[in-house]
Order: sequence, then C-alpha cells, then structure tokens
Amino acid sequence: MTAAPEAGRPVVFRNGTVLTMDGAHTILRDADVLVEGERISAVGHALPVPAGTTEIDASGGIVMPGMIDTHRHMWQTAMRGYGADWTLSQYFVWNYLQWGKSFRPEDIYAGNLLSAMEAIDAGVTTSVDWSHNLHTIDHAEAAADALQEIPGRFVLAYGNIQAAPWEWSAAPEFRDFVSRRFSGGNDMLGFQMAFDVPPASSDFPEKAAFAVARDLGVPVTTHAGVWKVTTDDGIRLMHEHGFMTPSTIYVHAASLSADSYHRIAATGGSASLSTESEQSAGQGYPPTWKLREHGIGVSLSMDTSVWWSADLFSAMRATLSADRAREHLEAHARDDTVTHHKLRAEQVVDWATMGGARALGLDSVTGGLEPGKKADVVLIKNDDSPVMFPLLNPYGHVVFQAQRGDVHTVVVNGRVVKYEHKLAGSDLAKARQAIDRTVEYLQGVLGPVAWDEGMHPDIPETRVLDNPYTYTYTQE
Ligand SMILES: [Zn+2]
Repeated sequence: MTAAPEAGRPVVFRNGTVLTMDGAHTILRDADVLVEGERISAVGHALPVPAGTTEIDASGGIVMPGMIDTHRHMWQTAMRGYGADWTLSQYFVWNYLQWGKSFRPEDIYAGNLLSAMEAIDAGVTTSVDWSHNLHTIDHAEAAADALQEIPGRFVLAYGNIQAAPWEWSAAPEFRDFVSRRFSGGNDMLGFQMAFDVPPASSDFPEKAAFAVARDLGVPVTTHAGVWKVTTDDGIRLMHEHGFMTPSTIYVHAASLSADSYHRIAATGGSASLSTESEQSAGQGYPPTWKLREHGIGVSLSMDTSVWWSADLFSAMRATLSADRAREHLEAHARDDTVTHHKLRAEQVVDWATMGGARALGLDSVTGGLEPGKKADVVLIKNDDSPVMFPLLNPYGHVVFQAQRGDVHTVVVNGRVVKYEHKLAGSDLAKARQAIDRTVEYLQGVLGPVAWDEGMHPDIPETRVLDNPYTYTYTQE
C-alpha cells in the first residue's frame, strides 16, 4: 500500500485497456491516459509525460470514464438496506406519510455524506442527488454542505415531498438559497428542480414550479411513468404547457403510452432508468426497448440505498438482463426463440457514462476519455482477483465480470480520490459517526415496534398447489 499521489501532480495511467467512450467507442489496448490539472491532456500509446508525473500501472486493467448516476435519493442512505423487502407502496407510506418528516438537517447531511463517499468509491464520479426531503432551507444547506465536502461531481436536484412544488418553489428563501449556493459555470455542483406531476392535478398547479425552473434556467427531473402514480396525463400537461425541454429527465419512464414517448422524443428529453428499482419496487418494466424504439436518450441510476446501492455495475448488469429476459419471455410466448440479442454490453456502458453526461448537459465536460475533457477516470484492476483475466471483451467484462471491489483508482476533476482500492480525501470515520447519530435518533423517534415493523412488512401467504403426483423411489 502506498500513499495516494500528491495533489496537483500530473497522473498517467499506463498500459491499460482504455474504453474512451468517444463517438466511435474506440478501445485502445496497452494504452495510456494522461491527466494534467483538471483535464485529460492525452490518450494514446507510450505517452511522453512531464517530469514529476505519478505513474499508475493499469496493465491487466480497464481504464474507463467515471460513471454517472442521474437519480439517487442520497439522504436515504442513512437508512441503508432497511427497506430491502419493501414495495413502492411501503416506501411511500414510510417516507412520505410516516417518517420522512422526522429527518433533521443533520440526518440529510449524514445520508448525503455517506452516499457521496460510496459513489466515488464505486467509480461513480457524478451523482444527481434527487433530494426530495428538503422541508426547510436548513435541510437544503445540509444537503449541499455534504456534497461540497466530498471530492466528487454532484448535482443537487432540489425537492420537498412535505409540500407541493408550487408552494416550496415560490418561497423567497428557496430562490435565495439557489442564488447563494449555485453560481453558473460550476461543473462540480450543479442544480436541478425535482418534483412529480401526479394525475390528480388536472388543473396542472405544477405549472408554477415549472415556470420557476424556466425563470432560474435550471432543468427539471421528474418521476414519470410510475404505475398509477404518475401517468400519461402528466406528460401531456407538461407538453401542452411547453415545459418539456432537452434537459428534462424522466425518471423510470416505465408505465407510459407510445404517445408519451413520442412527446419525450420530440422535445429531446431523456430517461433515467433505475432497473433494480423498477424490478423490485414496481414502477413498471424497465422500458429499454421502448426508449430505443423511440430514439430517447438513456442514462442509468440506482434510486435509493434504502433498497440498493450506488453501484452502477449492478445497474448495468440488471438493465441488460431485464431487456434480454423480456425478449426471451415474449419470444417463448410466441413459441419462438431469440437467436440474436439486440441490446449489447457496449450500449449499457455508454448509458452508464456518456448517457448520463448527455442527460446532464455535461457531455463536453465528462463521460468520456478524450483530451480536453475534465479528468473523471476509473481504473478497474484487481491483481488478486481470478476474475480479471482473460480480458477479452472489455464491455462484457465491465458489465458481467467486474464489480465495485475491483475499482482500484478513481480520479475526479483531475484529483485522485481513490487509490489502490482506498478512498483518499474522504473521512469515512466522520461519516460513520454522523450515520450512527442519525440511526440512533430515528430508532428513538420510531420506537422498537415501528422500527421493526417498518423493516419487516407482512409476507402474503404462498399457497402450495395440490400435486397430482406421488412417487416412490425403489432401489433394484
Ligand atoms: Zn426516485
């Protein structure tokens, strides 16, 4: 174990398999990536480097762009794993109706701090914090404080499930917060507005919040196509009022008609797929094939650590598998067989990198390894692992073989934030203490009975079918 490279010095990754994720998806074998200052200065073979450059041996490894998560409720990381057996209804009841309002600013801070560290540890260099429990400005300050403390690239998507979007977005202190903390041109901490358009609101009161977003010049991210929660009506209202833009992100975008996909495609917005979430929580089947049919841009996300984690390896794997599982199931129903897969590993790696960058309007900044871009770089390398060789199909290796423990080095904005499998510049002990305080506090608020019931919802009975067969094994 050696210390992380000194800040400010150039860094070169040597002799790796480099996935540039450029327009041609160029792969370079035994190649180098040179980082100088905040940017990638060169990608190629046997690069000459300035004196004092830190050399990182990437041989046997994959050098790829930092991954991008376009939708994660980072504050909920304080409740990591608690809702592993929840449905979406149970999630709504616990967070929206019962306990979400118990979270104090320090609890939002604790969840965000841990989630931000977890992201860069897993090679996720850009994360959208879909922060929908900012019920006071102090909560919002706490969320932003945590994101600024950790050396990753973040976007605060401001939301508040405890009030209507047309209410919180109209508050003078909201505007004051935005103007104080978010100056234009800071690509390390961006800003979005986060709210949903449920069908109950046929007079479209949300239009006031969309108007604020337009006035501030910030994108809107919205959970769309969530079964029986947000529907085609919301998309139609947004479209008819002129609020669908290329920067709008439709999270899940699952349970929608062709008409809604046409409206999204025509206005240039993109979908954020949280496949593990859609599969487990029930927003709708991850709509990969529909998005591709309609030419809608795709990025990936993990949604919430109440169930899942900030691990885009899992997101890529789940997304590819869900697409293929559906194809096989539908083919078998037609008494047919799928002989060629449409969706490829290469495509989901693109969604996990450039797809996110395009969705966030950061495609000239990050998402690929090209000279001039900001240096968000991940080295996947684990010399102790039997899974790192042979390295024959790099995209397949990233999607189906590698995992977060194989993330060796992470660079964000030119700074080494993880080195030789260890976080650098993030105080994990501090996050642990903050989380411990939050968990202790929440356990006190809920009491032991509600705490236990929340974690272990009732299991519907499974009836074992009558079996017409009886069979006795007789030995000769
Ligand atoms: Zn969500």
